[in-house]
Amino acid sequence: MSAPHDAEEDELATTGPAERDRYSRQSRFWGIGRAGQERLCAGRVLVIGCGALGSVAVDLLARAGVGHITVVDRDFVELSNLQRQLLFDEADAAAGTPKAIAAARAVARINSEVEVRPFVADVTPTNVEEFVAHVDVVLDGTDNFETRYLVNDACVKLGVPWVYGGAIGSTGMSMTIVPGETACFRCLFPAPPPVGTMETCETAGVLAAGVVTVAAMQCAEVMKLLVGDRENRSRGLTAIDIWTNDHLQAEGRLRDPGCPCCGQQRFEYLDAVVTSRTASLCGRDAIQVNPGRALAVDLADLGRTLKATGPVTSNEYLVRCVVDGHEMTIFADGRAIIKGTTDLSVARSLYARYVGT
Ligand SMILES: [Zn+2]
Repeated sequence: MSAPHDAEEDELATTGPAERDRYSRQSRFWGIGRAGQERLCAGRVLVIGCGALGSVAVDLLARAGVGHITVVDRDFVELSNLQRQLLFDEADAAAGTPKAIAAARAVARINSEVEVRPFVADVTPTNVEEFVAHVDVVLDGTDNFETRYLVNDACVKLGVPWVYGGAIGSTGMSMTIVPGETACFRCLFPAPPPVGTMETCETAGVLAAGVVTVAAMQCAEVMKLLVGDRENRSRGLTAIDIWTNDHLQAEGRLRDPGCPCCGQQRFEYLDAVVTSRTASLCGRDAIQVNPGRALAVDLADLGRTLKATGPVTSNEYLVRCVVDGHEMTIFADGRAIIKGTTDLSVARSLYARYVGT
């Protein structure tokens, strides 16, 4: 454990009386102090994805007084989100408000001193560096590997720390990635899991208690990074199961010297060497999502996973189901055709949620 922040340094803090009252219970904590609170108030955090983890994180960071929060999300609020996305309410779902916008409005009611910059957007190789370059820390609230690899590339390239998080069922994981110091996301997961082998929140369900636990771990890590407490940062990968009470801390030599990203400085996702290609299908009111790399989907496995969402039909070439009112057809090479939309981000979002990569 670290010693409390230096008392003399605390005397120099310029926090105003109102702020001192608002954050008094936090700045009294030995790991923060008034100087730490000053750093939080000046802190710039990027939250990528404002679903379950992201919305809880934005709430916690805003209440902690993190001064500048950028929120990027491509989706809108739905009724089925409310069970775990604590920042949103029925009015947001009824209006179909974009999550980034709903988050900014909620924070304005919670802590008007915090500046939130909402972006209703997909994070892509084209825009990710621009987002990452202007912040101190990135918090992962995404739901897919592709975006995490992209965020990892951008953060390692620009030397910005990021905190990975994931939650499904009653389980969750978190890892703090500090470029040049710790293992990166690709050291741990060199390649995305095969399509159809990984469950998603839509197929396996997710408990809000697990989500909140992971988001809380992520936020504590962000706060340690902002106040500069290197000693107490989490090392390695933390995994928890709030139903079975299992807890795993994987430490040790996780860093891979041969890692394409942090080892060789090859940013394949950022350079769009490995990326998805999504395109609308002319005149069909449908979108094709193409993972952009050779995949061999186990259609039988995928069919079994998707059965949790409703009736599934399949043959040896494809699996078909109806999700959120859209007929989705997935082929053995990983392509999917999603009917009933011409919006690329809607199709990519459905693909990420139900096919899971
Ligand atoms: Zn690496």
